[in-house]
Amino acid sequence: SYPFSKKIKFLKCAICFCQFNNVFNTPKVLQCKHTFCLECLARMNVKSTQPDTIQCPLCRAYTPLPNLGLPTLANDSTVLSYLPAAMQHVYSIRFNRNKGKLQVKRVPSSAPALTQTVSQTLDVGNPAGLEGHQGRDGGRERSLLITVLQTPLCKAFIMSLVAILIVVLTITIIFINKK
Ligand SMILES: [Zn+2]
Ligand SMILES: [Zn+2]
Repeated sequence: SYPFSKKIKFLKCAICFCQFNNVFNTPKVLQCKHTFCLECLARMNVKSTQPDTIQCPLCRAYTPLPNLGLPTLANDSTVLSYLPAAMQHVYSIRFNRNKGKLQVKRVPSSAPALTQTVSQTLDVGNPAGLEGHQGRDGGRERSLLITVLQTPLCKAFIMSLVAILIVVLTITIIFINKK
């Protein structure tokens, strides 16, 4: 019933502009009927000083969090219905606010093919009020390193650097041995 361009707009989160999916970017509808992806809501909740409610970034209305946690907020069934058939079954996600992590709890049995391509956890930032705590910088550094290593170009660059280093070391050792 909607023109195609409008459908495409529906399929993207208004905060991060990512495509909705059935894992960490599941479309979640707030009480004000505005829809955002689970990842963005988790990021907002982690930074919020009021962890029991979510404030809509569009209309500022508050939605109390469900007792069973952020991932149990209602899915936007309209948006979900526009997703491909393989994405109709939403993953069961656990939200650990203290660690700032979203984790896949259960993979829907209908999506075995997707299991390999989906990462099992997602960092959504550090909780407000825990700034400066031990392990904070370590976590950030580690995730940055992982991000760098996962970028193909960076990976190639680091690999060639290592290769050059090995060659230089070998030449140096040969040179020293000859003397
Ligand atoms: Zn989003
Ligand atoms: Zn709203």
